[in-house]
Amino acid sequence: MSSRQVTALVDLDAISSNFNLVRHHAPNSCAMAIMKADAYGHGAIRVAQSLPAADAFGVARVSEAVELREAGIGQPICLLEGVNDREELNLASIFELQVVIHDQSQLELLERSGARRKIWLKIDTGMGRLGFSPETVPEVLASLGKQTLLGVMTHLSEASDPSSTKTDLQLMRLQEVIGNLEQPGAKTLSIANSAGILGHAASLADWVRPGLMLYGATPFDDLKPMDELHPAMTFSAPVIAVHTVKAGESVGYGGIFTAAEDTRVAVIAAGYADGYPREIAQGAPILLHGERRKLVGNVSMDMICVELEPSDVVQPSDRAVLWGEGLAIEEIAALCGTIPYTLMTGVSSRVYRHYRVSN
Ligand SMILES: *Cc1c(COP(=O)(O)O)cnc(C)c1O
Repeated sequence: MSSRQVTALVDLDAISSNFNLVRHHAPNSCAMAIMKADAYGHGAIRVAQSLPAADAFGVARVSEAVELREAGIGQPICLLEGVNDREELNLASIFELQVVIHDQSQLELLERSGARRKIWLKIDTGMGRLGFSPETVPEVLASLGKQTLLGVMTHLSEASDPSSTKTDLQLMRLQEVIGNLEQPGAKTLSIANSAGILGHAASLADWVRPGLMLYGATPFDDLKPMDELHPAMTFSAPVIAVHTVKAGESVGYGGIFTAAEDTRVAVIAAGYADGYPREIAQGAPILLHGERRKLVGNVSMDMICVELEPSDVVQPSDRAVLWGEGLAIEEIAALCGTIPYTLMTGVSSRVYRHYRVSN
């Protein structure tokens, strides 16, 4: 690895142990590991290859499924938003993808083109986004035609907030719908995302759909790192210059930081074009030689600046950790008013992904 590269080092063993934690919390459920958005920025092919025990994979886009199939991934792959035109349906058939059906037009598309697919019926129990409304479900089930029903899926909208009663309401609505259905498949349920798995045992059901927790960050709103999860990504970048900013001089665009006294600053070669958030607060922590130092000045496209302590011995090619080992992504997310999901998926394509695996 060139020391000049911005790197996302991905620990595949951490992802395996997080997957084992899914099994621990949901011992009686099958697990559909969610690989959308390039496995939340970790690299979908490598991550999927490192999860031979996953019962299925879930993705948002057809292209994401095709990428996994072309890399030789043989487990079932589910399109969480289904297919929306003939071309997507053809790809779903060629690559043997499961499809979510969330509205009538998708079902008609399948029937009109003579396709036979394994389908999940998506019901909107309160997310207010995709899915059939509960009262229409018996009618929809009666019109499945040649399709094979794998099960019924719904998505939780407030599982990340342990004080919310919304999850119970969604579970109740789901039970009301499927309670008196006899159709094969209609009793197979998939409800829980990471927050459901870790926080709502009643939501586990037949299939769970872990995403974020596989990558080792908390899905809960409090952004408190969870001891039982193993963070998988360390985002780091090299120092490319060290210099002294004279008292009264400023650093970076807009001059939002002015040195009160002569201050040594390290320039790090990572910026918002790499996925480091421009919205982050002044003074945000950055690790140099394992020590916390402070971000100063605005985040640029390709660079950030860090204030050094007088005793620091730092030189170009030393590496700074932006989040990951020794610096929780949750803490960084809190400092820019966001969640770990956006930081992980925002790591851009020019960042070099590097993998660590012990076996
Ligand atoms: C993204 C997604 C998940 C995974 O959610 P996490 O909060 O990352 O665990 C599960 N189900 C569906 C339908 C999704 O779109």
